[in-house]
Amino acid sequence: MIPFNIPPYIGTEPDFLKEAIENRKICGDGPFTKKCHAWIEDRFGAQKALLTTSGTTALEMAALLAGLKAGDEVLLPSFTFSSTATAVVLTGATPVFVDIRPDTMNIDEQKLEAAITPRTRAIMAVHYAGVGCEMDTILDIARRHSLIVIEDAAQGVMSTYKGRALGTIGDLGCYSFHETKNYSMGEGGALLIRDDKYNEPAEILREKGTNRARFFRGQVDKYTWVDYGSSYLPSDLNAAYLWAQLCEADRINESRLAVWKAYDDAFRPLAEDGEGRIDVPHIPAECVHNAHMYYLKLRDLADRTAFIAHMKERGVSCVFHYVPLHSSPAGERFGRMAGKDEYTTRESDRLVRLPMYYGMADADRDRVIEAAMDYLKR
Ligand SMILES: *Cc1c(COP(=O)(O)O)cnc(C)c1O
Repeated sequence: MIPFNIPPYIGTEPDFLKEAIENRKICGDGPFTKKCHAWIEDRFGAQKALLTTSGTTALEMAALLAGLKAGDEVLLPSFTFSSTATAVVLTGATPVFVDIRPDTMNIDEQKLEAAITPRTRAIMAVHYAGVGCEMDTILDIARRHSLIVIEDAAQGVMSTYKGRALGTIGDLGCYSFHETKNYSMGEGGALLIRDDKYNEPAEILREKGTNRARFFRGQVDKYTWVDYGSSYLPSDLNAAYLWAQLCEADRINESRLAVWKAYDDAFRPLAEDGEGRIDVPHIPAECVHNAHMYYLKLRDLADRTAFIAHMKERGVSCVFHYVPLHSSPAGERFGRMAGKDEYTTRESDRLVRLPMYYGMADADRDRVIEAAMDYLKR
């Protein structure tokens, strides 16, 4: 069976893990965490990066730093992972779901303004499949309505929009280093901060509400409890694993892009032959993506279900997502849809993801293509 995902593994991870253990510094903010922070800041031009225990907790930090509270509303797509919405719900604010664009599956920037009310405080831009949202339009709307922009760039590490790294464009950006993402530390993530006014509040929030970071910089002579906080910093063991991957970030990116391109060369002709058998991902001219995902869109739910069964029979594991949040039990309880669900449900019903991981063998990739073609051409 060709798996849907294999967590990225470079080969140097055990060496760095051993080093972390021998450093006798396995708690948070050790040497490997610091290296990862510096790498992310340098490579992506981020003012500040802080590793977190997950993409989910990076989103929670962003929601708390944005000062969201009960009664506030946050605009986000319904077609996303639950974490985008749980971060909002944690603060007591209300997730207000906006329809997606059918071409990129990202939030439809043209439908945002109609969803704004006097209670709206923030927009969460989820860069689906590592393909950037229409950020200039979103930033312009945010500026005119004094809204904070949080990027859920969980899938967008190494992607850009108009040359800027995803995660560095909005006020706050969130990465995930879960094992299903392009770069991994098992469980982990990062918060990226654009305006340095958030630096100290973020450090306090991440370090159990203490001013420990200032203490370590010698800015105060003892550290103490100063505000609300939690523990959002990962062990240096996890950071050591991530460090191995960041050192080879380009190699991982190129490997994934090669698989993506082979899929695209095979399937795009079927999307563009005028018969409309399938749709394939659309990459806007402003965007450079990171091959986080390759998906096909079948005719409808029944077609997709049959496709997945066919692929399974042929030894290929394909998956779909997401149940639109506005129609999920928690989404119905905590949030609401703004405007019409024109594309969210329809397009999510059609979408299926093909196996995609670092180091995928050419022969396996070709088997995926062959099995899919046998279905699509019959
Ligand atoms: C993976 C993912 C998350 C959550 O990241 P974790 O590291 O698994 O907590 C959030 N949002 C999106 C869009 C994701 O794909």
